[in-house]
Amino acid sequence: MHVMVLGAGVTGVTTAWYLRKAGFDVSIVDRQAAAGLETSFANGGQISVSHPEPWANPSAPLTALRWLGREDAPLLFRPHAQRDQWQWALSFLFECLPWRTRRNTEAIARLAVHSAERLRELREETGIRYDQLERGILHLFFSAQTFGDAPRRAAELHHLGIAAEVVSAEECVRIEPALAASRAELVGGLYAPDDESGDAHCFTQALAARLPELGVQVHLNTTIERLSSAGGRIDGIEVRDVAGRTGTLSADAYVLCLGSHSRQLMAPLGEHLPIYPVKGYSLTAPVIDPAHAPEVSLTDESRRIVCSRLGDRLRIAGTAELDGYNTTPREERGRMLLEWAQNRFPGAIDPATATLWAGLRPATPGNVPIIGRSAYDKLWYNTGHGTLGWTLACGSAAALAELISGRRPTPDFPFR
Ligand SMILES: Cc1cc2nc3c(=O)[nH]c(=O)nc-3n(C[C@H](O)[C@H](O)[C@H](O)COP(=O)(O)OP(=O)(O)OC[C@H]3O[C@@H](n4cnc5c(N)ncnc54)[C@H](O)[C@@H]3O)c2cc1C
Repeated sequence: MHVMVLGAGVTGVTTAWYLRKAGFDVSIVDRQAAAGLETSFANGGQISVSHPEPWANPSAPLTALRWLGREDAPLLFRPHAQRDQWQWALSFLFECLPWRTRRNTEAIARLAVHSAERLRELREETGIRYDQLERGILHLFFSAQTFGDAPRRAAELHHLGIAAEVVSAEECVRIEPALAASRAELVGGLYAPDDESGDAHCFTQALAARLPELGVQVHLNTTIERLSSAGGRIDGIEVRDVAGRTGTLSADAYVLCLGSHSRQLMAPLGEHLPIYPVKGYSLTAPVIDPAHAPEVSLTDESRRIVCSRLGDRLRIAGTAELDGYNTTPREERGRMLLEWAQNRFPGAIDPATATLWAGLRPATPGNVPIIGRSAYDKLWYNTGHGTLGWTLACGSAAALAELISGRRPTPDFPFR
């Protein structure tokens, strides 16, 4: 049976890998010249099993109101006339109900635990390297009020089978000595020792490079213009290459892994996927003073900024904007990330050669990805991974391969 994977970001490439390992004939299609060049290109680098709680939680509406109109707000809503954006925002509010948050958190946590295990296995099997560090993630609190919630979060994580301990400001500096300059402002932390970090783009490219060796056919520079359907079944994809030549590719089954663009391809078929592109930024800077740059991956809980050491680079990422499909980075957002890094780790990075990037998180309102069957025969979904696509990639792909093989995947998750 030939399965065609649509999209070669971290989700599509891992999907192709696990499908091939499950014995399917596999091909993969992407419009870019290489794998992992869109949202999987420069994310925060965190394998963040310890952050299953979605943005949509009971405190989110009030927090968003407080931030309204502030250009430096971690979450910025730029209202458009499009119905999609408003519909998504309303669904987001629904997902903020306590029982929805609990359901979503638990589903994401189970998938994340499973995914981290699959990632470790895959790393052992392939030996691929992607500037990964197994030093855990330290969540940082700079206000007594937010730190007050840390014991509840630690208890919830324990309940979900995820190791996390509340630590004092001194212990934060012991875990990550580069935090010494922030000691006076730090109130405490939440340390998840089993979390990891690494470069999702390097990982995606390294895994994609192995696909042809396994017999996977790779179609790059190939834009999918339309999915063609007849009688409730997908019977091909209409494509265009860089020279403008058009054609149709077909297979026995298709898996949609088009990230934020999944919705656009499905809308003409009358299927409205609840995915909105939530824009985020990252800044990557060379480390010039390794002793003062962190190695433990960090999450600043008040600013919603994450930071990961990727070899001799430091990646700082964060912010969320609801601003349509626009990927142009705004300078002020970059400045904010740079200031954060320079305040926290004075002299550690070279600001002059830092690169700013913006990407679109394929976010569902509750941050729970869409994995499983579509309403169309022969079409499957593995998309909508939002803020956690790197964390959830291996687990989602392994589960999808199980589903197509007719088996029940291991994690208890609302598969379609
Ligand atoms: C600033 C930022 C920080 C983040 N930090 C983290 C983090 O620390 N940890 C974490 O787990 N996650 C993080 N994420 C989220 C994570 O990066 C995404 O969830 C993940 O990259 C999504 O992967 P994907 O493969 O689904 O989408 P993509 O990487 O966007 O892949 C989709 C692919 O489909 C292709 N495509 C689209 N349309 C077409 C078409 N019409 N024809 C052909 N090809 C097409 C694209 O070229 C692309 O290669 C972050 C995201 C952002 C923006």
